[in-house]
Amino acid sequence: MSVVTETSLRCDLLVAGGGMAGVCCAIAAARLGSRVILVQDRPVLGGNASSEIRMHIVGATGLHAGLPLRLEPREGGLIEEIRLELAVRNPQRSPAVFDLVLYEFCRAEQNLTLLLNTTVVAARMDGDRIAEVTAERPSTEDRFRIAADMFADCTGDGRLGAEAGVPVMRGREGRGAFGEPLAPAAGDTKTLGSTILFQARKHDRPMPFVAPPWVRRFTPADFKLRPFGKSGADLGLEYGYWWIEWGGCLDSIKDGERIRDELLGITLGVWNHIKNESGLDVAHWALDWIGFVPGKRESRRFVGQHVLTENDLFSSRAFPDAIAFGGWPIDTHPPEGVDAPAEPPCTQHHLPWLYDVPLRSCVASNRRNLFFAGRNLSATHLAFASTRVMATCAAIGQGVGTAAALALRAGTEPAAIAGDPALLARIRQRLLRDDAYLLGCRNEDPDDLARRAEVTASSAQLGGEAVQVISGQTRSVHGSGETGPAPAGNQWENVLRELETGRARALHTCAPPDRAFPGLHRWLSDPAAGLPARLELRWPEPVAIAELQLVFDTGLHRFLTLSQADGYTARMEWGRPQPETVRDYRIEAEIAGAWRHVHTETDNYRRRRVHRLPEPLAGVAALRITVLATNGLDHARICEVRVYS
Ligand SMILES: Cc1cc2nc3c(=O)[nH]c(=O)nc-3n(C[C@H](O)[C@H](O)[C@H](O)COP(=O)(O)OP(=O)(O)OC[C@H]3O[C@@H](n4cnc5c(N)ncnc54)[C@H](O)[C@@H]3O)c2cc1C
Repeated sequence: MSVVTETSLRCDLLVAGGGMAGVCCAIAAARLGSRVILVQDRPVLGGNASSEIRMHIVGATGLHAGLPLRLEPREGGLIEEIRLELAVRNPQRSPAVFDLVLYEFCRAEQNLTLLLNTTVVAARMDGDRIAEVTAERPSTEDRFRIAADMFADCTGDGRLGAEAGVPVMRGREGRGAFGEPLAPAAGDTKTLGSTILFQARKHDRPMPFVAPPWVRRFTPADFKLRPFGKSGADLGLEYGYWWIEWGGCLDSIKDGERIRDELLGITLGVWNHIKNESGLDVAHWALDWIGFVPGKRESRRFVGQHVLTENDLFSSRAFPDAIAFGGWPIDTHPPEGVDAPAEPPCTQHHLPWLYDVPLRSCVASNRRNLFFAGRNLSATHLAFASTRVMATCAAIGQGVGTAAALALRAGTEPAAIAGDPALLARIRQRLLRDDAYLLGCRNEDPDDLARRAEVTASSAQLGGEAVQVISGQTRSVHGSGETGPAPAGNQWENVLRELETGRARALHTCAPPDRAFPGLHRWLSDPAAGLPARLELRWPEPVAIAELQLVFDTGLHRFLTLSQADGYTARMEWGRPQPETVRDYRIEAEIAGAWRHVHTETDNYRRRRVHRLPEPLAGVAALRITVLATNGLDHARICEVRVYS
């Protein structure tokens, strides 16, 4: 008889996989009232960004970030909440604190049950619906049968969908398959490879490194296109090299153990070359950490209701069911990795425009109640080469979690959401309310009382008038006006040129002009008037108020991510709040001709603040927000005010 205990569980939404896509999917749905179980096979959350792998999270800020007040492509919503939290609470850049913050975000949600060290291993079908999954936790000798109305596969490898019989794509599609100009003439099964990262530290005395006999041997010719030991980027000595890549010609799932062993030999071989053969002044440097879980870039991609393609990205095709956006270049790598030293480690095709990710690319083509989010998205190899970056995966995860929660309320199955324009509109409006950005989509929430108010301020700058807080968009994405057709060529060469000359041609990715809504989209008080600065919303007739939501400026034009790379971190405001963000503020309401104190906040560093009043206030003629201090700027900035009764 087995010692395994079997337990039956039930929830509204089961999320398999706790990488950035899964975490954001689960939290978004739980916050909207769904009962969620998040099943993660590792002891920590974060997937490739976790302390086990340590890849830093990038997204639509791309290679060159944005432009102040003109182009703010950094993702909003949950991933921004996580990034801001980490920037303040993890100045030391500890990978373990990253794990802890994600864990804490999940623990904070009453509707979310987190099953760590638990692997989804099977799915039981009821016709074309998943009825339940089996998940195993060997460490406690437990097996769970988890029934749910909806499922989301955020496992990266697509285990749940594969068990449920969803068709998958693997490798590189040929040009004819989807008419993609960048695709090879003939398709193959090769993928991007995997990578083991390392961290090294400088000591106060020489630290010799004796390589074990099984490491790979390299020569300087192997590194002609793979620079290392360079400052100013992620090519220093402290954070390993993403280009230590291998295994793309094998099956990244079935050959995983072999790939790990080979990658350990390659990674230590590169370190051996750096330490003992490169001639660099590295005597005091020693390995601090080396990963044992390879970072996997690519495995299964599902066939969903829509397969996102290179053409959708280059043309920034507008999808009515868009639930997220992306902007990272189409970033392909030679599957042979370090075995192809004559080929650049990546080919990065610049995208001129931010692009939509439609919900239909997150819904199974042949199963009624299965979503997916993350790198297993329904996308061609070329589109995936952009969507796979983790801030984009996180935004997609939030989009899917939000869609699931609202579809559950409406009693609509995932497969039917795209055919329900009213539900889609509610999902998109909810995403905006939760600070996600959707191209060309403005706040049209009929319940938002702020949209009916007259807005004034104690002072304002040109273009940053008070009324901007109800412009319906909370960021500027119109760019420099110079963006046009994508320049041909590999942007990686730009990076190499920058290393040599210190100069780079910054290429920006902004919203396409027809969906950009140019403008500042925030109130800016006049620095000459100093602080405090006041913003006032006044209604023609008194209103009842139960909730007030503020969105502050957090410098979305900048890079912001926990990175072990010193050069990359130096380009951020790390270890502190973002200087644009309002720090201290007071909210008051005018009732029957008298101003009444509602709330005072100090030490704020968050972008989105929701203030639910302990008791709803009736008869409110006006609301006043007084900015007392910022985290560095000499004037107040508020991107949006929403008011709900
Ligand atoms: C070396 C490397 C460099 C990269 N560079 C960057 C970069 O600089 N920035 C960036 O943003 N992205 C980068 N990427 C891409 C990015 O890391 C991945 O595309 C991304 O992790 C995808 O996120 P995800 O949540 O879909 O999947 P993952 O991060 O893979 O997370 C999936 C999670 O699900 C878990 N899981 C798997 N199977 C099961 C199961 N059956 N049951 C339960 N749980 C399961 C996994 O353990 C994992 O924790 C890089 C990737 C690699 C490997």
